[in-house]
Amino acid sequence: MVHIVGAGPGDPELITVKGQRLLSEADVVIFAGSLVNEEILRYCKPDAEIYNSAQMMLEEILHVITLAEKAGKTTVRLHTGDPSIYGATQEQMDAMRERGIEFDVTPGVSSFLAAAAALKQEYTLPSVTQTVIITRRGGRTPVPDSESLKKLAQHQTTLCIFLSVNLLSEIKQDLMSAGFKSSTPVAVVYKASWPGEEKIIRGRLDTIVEQVKEAKIDRTAMIVVGHCLSSKSYQKSNLYSPMFSHMFRQAR
Ligand code: SAH
Repeated sequence: MVHIVGAGPGDPELITVKGQRLLSEADVVIFAGSLVNEEILRYCKPDAEIYNSAQMMLEEILHVITLAEKAGKTTVRLHTGDPSIYGATQEQMDAMRERGIEFDVTPGVSSFLAAAAALKQEYTLPSVTQTVIITRRGGRTPVPDSESLKKLAQHQTTLCIFLSVNLLSEIKQDLMSAGFKSSTPVAVVYKASWPGEEKIIRGRLDTIVEQVKEAKIDRTAMIVVGHCLSSKSYQKSNLYSPMFSHMFRQAR
């Protein structure tokens, strides 16, 4: 049996209770070493076989899993954040399905959520925006033209941009040509939730490139763009309003 598990964004306490249990029971653990905080491996059994997938190709990963299956062992495939987001998990799941290997998936706390927590920010402010777009800028991995930042930015929603901090000046150009003002607030969160390593840079579209360069951040960072970051004039939610009744409370 193979368990695909989201390790969370970095803080070892941000794995789910279920993910931690599966990790502590696994005979074989294959972790995404480029991003997973290795501290989380302390939950593993002392005699667990541990592999770092950063040095492996898909076929090698499948080989390790197949051997473990033959030996009746349990494998945890540990991915950073949540496995469904830029996790390259689909090809692994499809290959396991083809080979008749049984697997399940345990979700994790994605880094865009850890970034919101670090920023102490709600992404969906009433009357400002009710939408969060998760995306990346096209680079070595292309992004379909219909989803270019220029097009997405026209909606003026909250944008959480993954895998792109090295392309920040291009992002700035895209967003400005899509109609975001140079004063639009931007935050860059480096290693959100990693104990002792997290850095938060707050700026505007016209300042952020310099600020991030100065802070020497060129990887493992979340770019958050949008009016939610500066808006003081949002409408308070109906949820706690005395005028509003809902299933659990009558209006007073
Ligand atoms: N599945 C992961 C994303 C993997 S892609 C998730 O759900 O978070 C890797 C990208 O995620 C990085 O380039 C960076 O943009 C972002 N990322 C991962 N961990 C991060 C963290 N702790 N803080 C900020 N960004 C992070």
